[in-house]
Amino acid sequence: MSNLGITHHCLLCGSPLELQLLDQRQRETCPTCGWVYYPQLKVGAGMLVEQDGKLLLLQRSHDPWAGRWNLPAGYVEADENPARAAERETLEETGLTVRATRLVNACFFDDDPRGNGVMLVYAGEVVGGSPIGSPETLAWRYFSPDEIPAELAGGGDDRIITGWKNIQLALAGGGHDKAILQWKDSGDGAVEKSASEQCSK
Ligand SMILES: [Zn+2]
Repeated sequence: MSNLGITHHCLLCGSPLELQLLDQRQRETCPTCGWVYYPQLKVGAGMLVEQDGKLLLLQRSHDPWAGRWNLPAGYVEADENPARAAERETLEETGLTVRATRLVNACFFDDDPRGNGVMLVYAGEVVGGSPIGSPETLAWRYFSPDEIPAELAGGGDDRIITGWKNIQLALAGGGHDKAILQWKDSGDGAVEKSASEQCSK
């Protein structure tokens, strides 16, 4: 039995699972064959696509967060490199062929009703195609930092997009070396700190 009150069954033998204390946690375990259900985080992959200092955002057509804006992104398949997943989702949702050039951030999220996960975010370089709509999007648009809409999707998107905005605004304000504003670096610049804090919870 799960802690949601729903009885789950063993994937191997079909017996109803029972809670057992294993590794200091209550885990759903099969009393017949010993199989243990280990829930794991979902893995998402998203792409930062920039053009002339603006960021491409898509308006979601479906729940969760219908009507809100997010990056081109989706779940990573179990046999897929996350960078390729980001490229695949970007092509599906925008019509743009984009190459993931580097990993820029990773966000844990626990606000998605479909389950908790980690979103890996890549910087992207457009190598072909032109933006089109998709059934998953109501609209697409490039936003300058001060145009970023308040209605952002959860699942990490809100914090990632806000982090991008903060970095761009700091760069525009001058006095910052772009090299120390890379999200992965571990310096203690105030702007960089605010950007990385966007992804810690
Ligand atoms: Zn079993």
